[in-house]
Amino acid sequence: GETIGILGGGQLGRMMAMAAAQLGYRTHVYAPEEQCVAAEVCAAFTSAAWDDAAAMARFAADCAVITYEFENVPVAPLAALDESLLRPHPRALETAQDRLAEKRFVEGLGGRPAPYAAVDTIADLESSIERIGLPGILKTRRDGYDGKGQWRLREASDAGNIELSGAPLVYEGFVKFDAEFSVILCRAEDGDIRFWDTPVNEHEGGILARSTVPASSAVQAHVDAARDLAAKVAERLGYIGVLTCEFFATSEGPVFNEMAPRVHNSGHWTIEGALTSQFENHVRAICGLPLGDPGLAATGVEMHNILGDSANDWAQILSDPANHLHLYGKAAARPGRKMGHVTRLILG
Ligand code: ATP
Ligand code: MG
Ligand code: MG
Repeated sequence: GETIGILGGGQLGRMMAMAAAQLGYRTHVYAPEEQCVAAEVCAAFTSAAWDDAAAMARFAADCAVITYEFENVPVAPLAALDESLLRPHPRALETAQDRLAEKRFVEGLGGRPAPYAAVDTIADLESSIERIGLPGILKTRRDGYDGKGQWRLREASDAGNIELSGAPLVYEGFVKFDAEFSVILCRAEDGDIRFWDTPVNEHEGGILARSTVPASSAVQAHVDAARDLAAKVAERLGYIGVLTCEFFATSEGPVFNEMAPRVHNSGHWTIEGALTSQFENHVRAICGLPLGDPGLAATGVEMHNILGDSANDWAQILSDPANHLHLYGKAAARPGRKMGHVTRLILG
């Protein structure tokens, strides 16, 4: 079959490559690492820097379509490639890579982010705290994930303990949320949009710990408004593939947190828990195929992440037939590193 190119070599690429194989596609992974967990399950692997134009061009020549499993793929080198190969369009990466641009973009579509302000200097931080108040979170505008590059501020004196590196930042008011949830959608080439059930997401130390469907009725009450916004985001970006938007459920409605222009950890439950997984529908969308049914395949589903520093007994987990174990094949179990996940189906 044809070859799908994947930029990035992590577990999202690995699961995407497995879904692609099911549909008869070969996958070629491009990543700067020498070894990566996606390369272990794909047909071809290029280990080269993001800005190695010659390597990137050879990779692209091999691919019928190119997608991303890593939201921070630098956009500049992609400009040398045939734009029609890239799905979703790199403008989605560009928007999602900068928290400030992302918030402005979503506001322009009628969405509501947490109160925010750009911060480049200590004086900016002080005036932002004055305007927005405390508690709050200072975040790097670029390159953050799993809560990295974030500082929580409780009192004004906390600002003095932060060493600004010169990287652009954004200060956000701390949202008093009842729950966190995500809208995971897939948009096809013909504009057809499908939504998975909305998972409720629980984070520990800024890292996703658990996703559960179905959401409580209190969270469900926010879903229509959040889906409308996520669909507008996808349409405005001319998006093709899976897009995820994270929200806070608050007494005043859904507050937009951030988007990920890719398949998402809070959608891993869809592998067994939905009639079509986020990975399969992403492959279908980028290959111009009709989308599959994202409906629930169980009464309820719980997904737990396995983080690097946790002790686990695989046989014990697998002794419960409701559990499905996914291990990503990562050698080094650094604290907080995503090593795998367990999906538990609730039937009947
Ligand atoms: P991800 O791995 O999801 O990409 P990230 O590093 O981009 O994470 P965020 O999603 O911005 O980080 O924040 C991580 C978590 O921190 C959120 O899911 C939420 O629990 C908490 N958080 C972030 N911003 C706020 C806020 N303004 N108010 C309250 N909680 C917040
Ligand atoms: Mg993020
Ligand atoms: Mg997040």
